[in-house]
Amino acid sequence: MSDTLVVNEIYLSLQGESTFAGLPCIFIRLAACDLRCSYCDTAYAFTEGEKQPLGQVRAEVHRLATPFAKPAGQTPNLPASGASGPAVLRLPLVELTGGEPLLQKNSLPLMQTLCDDGFTVLLETSGAHDIAAVDPRVRRIMDLKCPGSGEAARNRWENLRHLKSTDEIKFVIATREDYEWAKASIAEHKLDSLCPLLFSWAHPLAPEQQSKLLKPVPPGQTPISRRELAEKILADALPVRFQVQLHKVIWVPEQRGV
Ligand code: SF4
Repeated sequence: MSDTLVVNEIYLSLQGESTFAGLPCIFIRLAACDLRCSYCDTAYAFTEGEKQPLGQVRAEVHRLATPFAKPAGQTPNLPASGASGPAVLRLPLVELTGGEPLLQKNSLPLMQTLCDDGFTVLLETSGAHDIAAVDPRVRRIMDLKCPGSGEAARNRWENLRHLKSTDEIKFVIATREDYEWAKASIAEHKLDSLCPLLFSWAHPLAPEQQSKLLKPVPPGQTPISRRELAEKILADALPVRFQVQLHKVIWVPEQRGV
């Protein structure tokens, strides 16, 4: 196995879609995905990427993190959000995203190295691939694909038994049917006993983000507004965290590298 990864982009921004939302975060976007979710806003990462040695990726992370370095002896930052995580979070966070990072086997040693370097490492994964081999220090943010994605058949339910309290499950909710499916899945699998649950409203794609490669929303589904989603969560007293894609509120929705 060569020690390279196909990287789409590496950049510093604010984490936007987890319990870490709002914190500075270095994103490593890896190329390629084997799903084609109807709401995917990173179709450009399916094919665009450049092969980079792991050492080069690591060096770029350290370069972007340099302005956040604290003088020796100064304890940085914030209490960790997970019960079994380190006492403080080091900022910036580092997140592997995609595409689907787990399609590239070298994402595993990269995450391990970044944890060894002392970073708080997040992984965004589609939930369609085995998460068992991911370094246990990594905070895994795992999707459960709702029907509106067109990819619900790809959920790898066996992953649930590997989740820890420091991980997170994300439902991207695009339709009323997605909401009902997510609610039923939480009850059926007692998901709120596993880890934090995220209900992320699917921001409609800008014209520049639409792609013929994406699956259509299955027929008969009704789009849901963010307000309707918020009000349903409250009416049903669901134990979930509502969220919007933060970068789409701050920057224009189609902007890359933010
Ligand atoms: S899993 Fe993520 S990157 Fe892949 S198609 Fe779905 S939304 Fe896009």
